[in-house]
Amino acid sequence: MRKTLIGLCALGLLVSAAATAQAEEQSAACIEAGGPSRTVVVPDAVQSYGTMQYARTVDLEPKEVVLTFDDGPDPDVTPSILDTLDRYCVKATFFFTGHRAERYPHLVREAALRGHTIASHSYSHPNNLRHLSWNRATRQITRGISEIQAALDGAPETAQIDVAPFFRFPGLNHSSALRGWLAARNISTFSCDVGTDDWRRISSRAVVYRAIRNIRSKGGGIVIFHDTKQRTAAALPFVLKQIRNEGYRVAHMVPERDMPPEQAQTAEQPISGGNVEIPPLEAATDLSLRSAL
Ligand SMILES: [Zn+2]
Repeated sequence: MRKTLIGLCALGLLVSAAATAQAEEQSAACIEAGGPSRTVVVPDAVQSYGTMQYARTVDLEPKEVVLTFDDGPDPDVTPSILDTLDRYCVKATFFFTGHRAERYPHLVREAALRGHTIASHSYSHPNNLRHLSWNRATRQITRGISEIQAALDGAPETAQIDVAPFFRFPGLNHSSALRGWLAARNISTFSCDVGTDDWRRISSRAVVYRAIRNIRSKGGGIVIFHDTKQRTAAALPFVLKQIRNEGYRVAHMVPERDMPPEQAQTAEQPISGGNVEIPPLEAATDLSLRSAL
């Protein structure tokens, strides 16, 4: 019995030492990755963001990207994406759907616990809310938010976390009437600045190539991915590594209302994207990136 206890204690010490080593390794990896994300405060005043559809984007500095993931959570993909984000010490925004939050509430909570922003993307992802009746369209939005909130409320450790007042239209198919309806409820609309085509049936290699090409051509901005696609999970480490090597930083969007008062400085003048000249892709592409794929 005593031997067993000593053995267990020794095992405990080993596990503890391993955990410390892992934490130190992760911390070193963070330094290598350029440290934690800068926080970008999204003002409470309602706005539509993302130059793919709107006049402005969030208040980013040159060569900063915001990572966003749509359509999840997905039990086969989201955990891998969360691990990659941790490895690079960066935070993202997840535009979850309500029906998946209902099925996989633990993944919603996991993303929140790891410090990411939780936002909404409708209940069941109808491709175009404009094609629904007004009541059904607005119900898609409210039910999506409430199911995601229910997932957060379902465990004590995330019960205090609220869904961010950020909405992305399914298929980016918006309408000014619905945006007005969202604005009346203090919810900002998010499109994107940079597409990655990861929703298309392309290889993960193609996702890496297109993501980097498009980030370069815009000089940064809100990047749209999907955490329901294996190709995205496979591509993400290469994208993060390459953009880091090119001097880009990842910024994390947080709603103003969630910031401590002293840090909640509202951005006075949101900037539009695309103000940095990037060399042509062929000239700038790191050969090691291609060989790594
Ligand atoms: Zn979507």
